[in-house]
Amino acid sequence: MIPVNIPEIGEKEKAYLLECLDTGWISSEGPFVSKFEESFASYIGRNFGVAVANGSAALDIAVKSVGITEDDEVIMPTFTIISPAFSIVRQGGKPVLVDSDRLTWNMDVSQIEKKITSRTKAILVVHVYGHPVDMNPVIELCEKYNLYLIEDAAEMHGQTYYNKKCGSFGHLSIFSFYPNKHITTGEGGMILTNDEKLAGKCRELRNLCFNSKRRFVHEDIGWNYRMTNLQAALGVAQLERIESILIKKRNIGKLYNELLEDVEGIQKPLPATAYSDNVYWVYGLVFNDEQHGHHVIQKLSENKIGTRPFFWSMHEQPVFNQQGLFLGESYPVAEQLARCGWYLPSGLGIKEEEIRTVVKFFKKALNKV
Ligand SMILES: *Cc1c(COP(=O)(O)O)cnc(C)c1O
Repeated sequence: MIPVNIPEIGEKEKAYLLECLDTGWISSEGPFVSKFEESFASYIGRNFGVAVANGSAALDIAVKSVGITEDDEVIMPTFTIISPAFSIVRQGGKPVLVDSDRLTWNMDVSQIEKKITSRTKAILVVHVYGHPVDMNPVIELCEKYNLYLIEDAAEMHGQTYYNKKCGSFGHLSIFSFYPNKHITTGEGGMILTNDEKLAGKCRELRNLCFNSKRRFVHEDIGWNYRMTNLQAALGVAQLERIESILIKKRNIGKLYNELLEDVEGIQKPLPATAYSDNVYWVYGLVFNDEQHGHHVIQKLSENKIGTRPFFWSMHEQPVFNQQGLFLGESYPVAEQLARCGWYLPSGLGIKEEEIRTVVKFFKKALNKV
C-alpha cells in the first residue's frame, strides 16, 4: 500500500509533546502556543500570528475580522477547497468567482478586474498545489479599488513569490497545519497579519469574543477555535526543520517530473514560473482525456496506490447551487481541472523507491488505454 500522504514525525516532536504531558500544559494556555505564533510569524515575515484549531477556522476568523457581512462581495478562485467560500457565505457575503490559469492552475488574475463592483469588499487569493498566485497584479487592484486582500497560503509554508514569502502579502493570510501540509500539528491553523488591531480582533474571535473588561460579557459572535499546547508543540518542532522539509518536497516533485518526462497524454506540473520554483505541495497531473484518467487511477487503486482527485469547482457545488448561487456560470479551465486532474502519493514520508513503483504502474496503465 502506498497512501497518498504519509506525514513525517521526528524525535523533536516527541520530545516537545512529552514536555507538554510532563508539565501538565495541554490546553491552549500552554507556552508552546505563543512560541509557535511568534516563530511562525517571524519565519513568514509578519508581526502577529494567531494560532487556531484548523485552516478553515482561520478563514472564518479572517473573513469576519475585516467586517465582511450581508451582501458584501469577495472575489476568489472557483478552483479551490471549499473552506474560503464557506467562510464568506457564513457571514452572509457572496463569493464572486474567477477561472484558473491553464498552466499554474491558480486564479487567472487577468480576469479579476472585470468582476469588481461597488459591493466588492475583498479579494481572497488561494495558492494551489505548489505555485503562488501572481500577486503583484492583485496587490495593485486592491490598492486601486481600496479592497481587503486575504491570502489563503494553507499549502505554501516557505514558498516564495519573487523572493518574498507567501503569507506575507495583504492584510491577512492564513495557513493550515493538517497532516498533508508542509508543517503539521495534526489539526491546526494560523492567521498572520502586520496590523495590531486586526490581530486583536482575530484573538477575540478565536476565543468566543470574551471581553477584556468583564469576563462573560460579550459584544460580538465568536468561536472556540483555540489551538492546544499539544498541537503547538508539534508545530514548533516542525518549523525548526522547515528548510529540509521544503527541499524534500521539491525533490519529490522533481523525481516525478524526471520519471514521467517521456509520458504523453498528461499535463505535468510546471517546474517554475518567473516568480517561483514549484514547491509541489502535491504532485498533480491533468489527463488530456477524462476517461483515460479514470481508467489509470482505477488501475493504481487496484495496485494499492492512493490518489486524490483535484478540487471540485465552487460554481459546480450542489450546496451553493441549491442556494441559487453561481447558476449558469461556467469556468472552462477549472471544469477541466476538476474532471481530469488527480494527484499522486507525494507526502513527506514517501520513499524514492515508492515513487518509482507509482510511476511504473502509472506508465503501465496509461500505455494500455
Ligand atoms: C488544507 C486547506 C485549507 C483548510 O485547512 P484545514 O486545516 O483542513 O481546515 C484551506 N485552504 C487550502 C488551500 C487548503 O489546502
